[in-house]
Amino acid sequence: MSRFRVYPTSEQASIMLEHCAHARYVWNLAVEQHSHWKPGRTSAPGFAGQCRQLTEARCDNAWLGAGNADVQQQALKDFAKAKSARFASGFGEPTWRKKHVHEGFRVIGADRGPEFEADGSPKLNARTGKQVMSRSVVVDKLNRRWAQVKVPGCGWVRFRLTRPGLPRAKTFRVTFRNGQWHIAFAIVPEPIPAPKKGEVIGIDRGVKITAALSDGRRLNCPQLTAKERAQIRKHQRRAARAPKDSAAKTAEYAKVARLKAREADRRKDWCEKTSTMLARFYGLVRFEKLNIRNMTASAKGTIEPGTRVRQKAGLNRAILAQGWGLLRRRTGEKAPGRVEDIPAPYTSLRCSACGWIEKNSRKSQAEFVCVSCGFTCNADENAAHNVAAGQGGIPRPRRSAGAGGTTPPKGSSVREPQPA
Ligand SMILES: [Zn+2]
Repeated sequence: MSRFRVYPTSEQASIMLEHCAHARYVWNLAVEQHSHWKPGRTSAPGFAGQCRQLTEARCDNAWLGAGNADVQQQALKDFAKAKSARFASGFGEPTWRKKHVHEGFRVIGADRGPEFEADGSPKLNARTGKQVMSRSVVVDKLNRRWAQVKVPGCGWVRFRLTRPGLPRAKTFRVTFRNGQWHIAFAIVPEPIPAPKKGEVIGIDRGVKITAALSDGRRLNCPQLTAKERAQIRKHQRRAARAPKDSAAKTAEYAKVARLKAREADRRKDWCEKTSTMLARFYGLVRFEKLNIRNMTASAKGTIEPGTRVRQKAGLNRAILAQGWGLLRRRTGEKAPGRVEDIPAPYTSLRCSACGWIEKNSRKSQAEFVCVSCGFTCNADENAAHNVAAGQGGIPRPRRSAGAGGTTPPKGSSVREPQPA
């Protein structure tokens, strides 16, 4: 995915908003059709059936008929994809799209014929020497900072070129949120080749330090500054005091949303840069296996009743968790086959020098002193060493009464069965 900020003229913006409305309308019709389906009834129409219905609907509905047919059909295609990926995508069943919240539409590139010659060799572009794509969107570079893209009904729309090289993609998606237009090209990046000297790196993800590496480096995901957080609180306060349904209230909430979007952008940027660094410099990247869903749930205080977790702590952790998941996913995409998940209970309690697991070894948040051999290390780095060594997947110690989770019971030390 390759995302850029788009700067349409006001005329183009109004056409694109209309595209968004059509796409949302068609998507929601598809959701509705499928939500009424129950076992035993004739099945809801698939993509082909819905396309036929769309053609009919465009004849009956003048507003829909005046819109771009490709944009509307792509909304159906997106729905079909979301529906078929509902068990694997993590997003579940496709749900309703809301006005002002899920504004966007997909544009598919023009058909350019086969990608291969008759003899099976890749068909190359005579001018650039790159393999031709069966479809490609029309992009044009204006200068070092600006490029433009063809959007149906709008002609050329300018976008800020914030990466080197023009994107080569078959489709793109235009989105509108918080008063900003963005364009995201669907690009599957080339995997990054492994370095010649393929070293193993272990990564321990935590709340204090976002990613502790086994080479001793500690990487932190950038967050909002204290000043920006104060701004958010200020605008939230003003929004709360503004009269109901007033323009001021909407404007203040928009400012809050924009600041939060900035935080998300920073997090994504950090994940992209970090995952590229990992894929480029290490032969094998090992993450400790996290169950992020459980971790964020417990931060909200639902899993451990009686443990009052502050709302903010939960929020921070949830935000971090998103970064953790994204970092793991992007590294896997950039270094396919070179990323492992180490199921690792006790990585923070195990001594990376001698393998002894004991709760008392962890003196504080930062300090690790092995009770058995006296090995001293930063606690996060120690955990990262364990992950790098792939240690921690060792059978858990016997369960004590009442201890069902991954944390050892209070006061007792946990001994690790020696590996054979
Ligand atoms: Zn030790």
